[in-house]
Amino acid sequence: MLKNSITFLGTGGGRVVVFRQMRHSGGMWLNIEGINLLIDPGPGSLVRIFERGFDTKDIDLLVVSHRHLDHSSDLNAVVESASESTKKPLDLLVCPQDVVEGEEPILLKYLRKGIKKIAVVKEGTLLSYKDLTVKATVKHIHKGAETYGLEFHGGGKKVVYVPCGRFYEGMLEGYSENADLMIFNTTFPKAIENGENTYHLTVPDVEKMVLRYKPKRAVITHFSVPMLRADPEKISARLSRKTGIPVASAYDGMKITF
Ligand SMILES: [Zn+2]
Ligand SMILES: [Zn+2]
Repeated sequence: MLKNSITFLGTGGGRVVVFRQMRHSGGMWLNIEGINLLIDPGPGSLVRIFERGFDTKDIDLLVVSHRHLDHSSDLNAVVESASESTKKPLDLLVCPQDVVEGEEPILLKYLRKGIKKIAVVKEGTLLSYKDLTVKATVKHIHKGAETYGLEFHGGGKKVVYVPCGRFYEGMLEGYSENADLMIFNTTFPKAIENGENTYHLTVPDVEKMVLRYKPKRAVITHFSVPMLRADPEKISARLSRKTGIPVASAYDGMKITF
């Protein structure tokens, strides 16, 4: 049986942590059913890929959850690298519309021929690639960007990615239950009054979702400064205790097999 794994190239989130590199950024490298996915190639992704012993040439699928730079800034660099300057196009880019269309797309026009197919997702989109099914599930509320929950199903395994967004009741319907791995962009320890974090998940939001969806294992990542101060390790330990489900806090370079 194939061993599936995910490596966190970076675990920083938000303006300060990412753009001052208090933690690395650059997304996640997921290997499922022998298919390599690079998810959210933020700042430094190209560097971290090689640093962790991966190679852009092995990328089958590129996934961008949304257009904010902490998730997408290295998209062009990765496409350039993976496709050998568009000579050997990579198979598939999966992303919401505003990553590739509209007034200010992230993907540069001249690099489009470096990708065979661009699949624009909306709520409910289902697409397959070899033995893998990619699902865009719940629409998230996130300022200035379109984004959806993303799921990757293959070989009887389910990986669920809950990207950035403000919690609302609708997020308690639509994701898969009992995922092998459920990854939460947990940017803040708690809601604060001035509204600065109202477009991101907080720890109590994640607790509700873990209890609702009962994944076999959960991971919190995408940490802001307040989250780092609160200590993600302590938070994940507390979440595990309160939910009865193993919750890990990601660190740069962390690899999980499943
Ligand atoms: Zn964002
Ligand atoms: Zn973000």
